[in-house]
Amino acid sequence: MPDKTAQFPDEYLELLRSNGGRVTPIVTALLQHLHESKRVYSPQQIKDELNNLLRCDIGFPTIYRAIDRLLQCRLLYRMYRDDGRTMFFLCRHPENKHHHHFICTVCNRVFEIEMCIAHQYESHVAEHLEVTITKHIFQLEGICKECLSDSAPRRRKQ
Ligand SMILES: [Zn+2]
Ligand SMILES: [Zn+2]
Ligand SMILES: [Zn+2]
Repeated sequence: MPDKTAQFPDEYLELLRSNGGRVTPIVTALLQHLHESKRVYSPQQIKDELNNLLRCDIGFPTIYRAIDRLLQCRLLYRMYRDDGRTMFFLCRHPENKHHHHFICTVCNRVFEIEMCIAHQYESHVAEHLEVTITKHIFQLEGICKECLSDSAPRRRKQ
């Protein structure tokens, strides 16, 4: 079955252009790479893989500028690993205003979650604390279906 999502979506570039500034080859290469891999990456991994792909020697300042640019356009999201590392991943539905993500801690793949059930919880908290809630951050982590089935036969043999 052909992967429809493998094609680089124009809306990424449109979003970048509408946010102003140049769309540099590094930014495009980073988008392309994250789009194809569908995984979370540390800045070090981004640096290594981009340099490998482009056969060049891009330094951290350029990598961070490209990351910042994508963060500003809400194309990129941040997550914090338990070991304190900051990781980044590409949102596949940047046009969808509010949604969440599931990250597999085994294969590092990112899955889009279209729905949010926090609104009722927000109103409850707002009422209880007599505050106004302006934002929530919510990310799910766990083991994806494929990683679960990969580990299943081994578990049965033991
Ligand atoms: Zn998303
Ligand atoms: Zn997985
Ligand atoms: Zn939400």
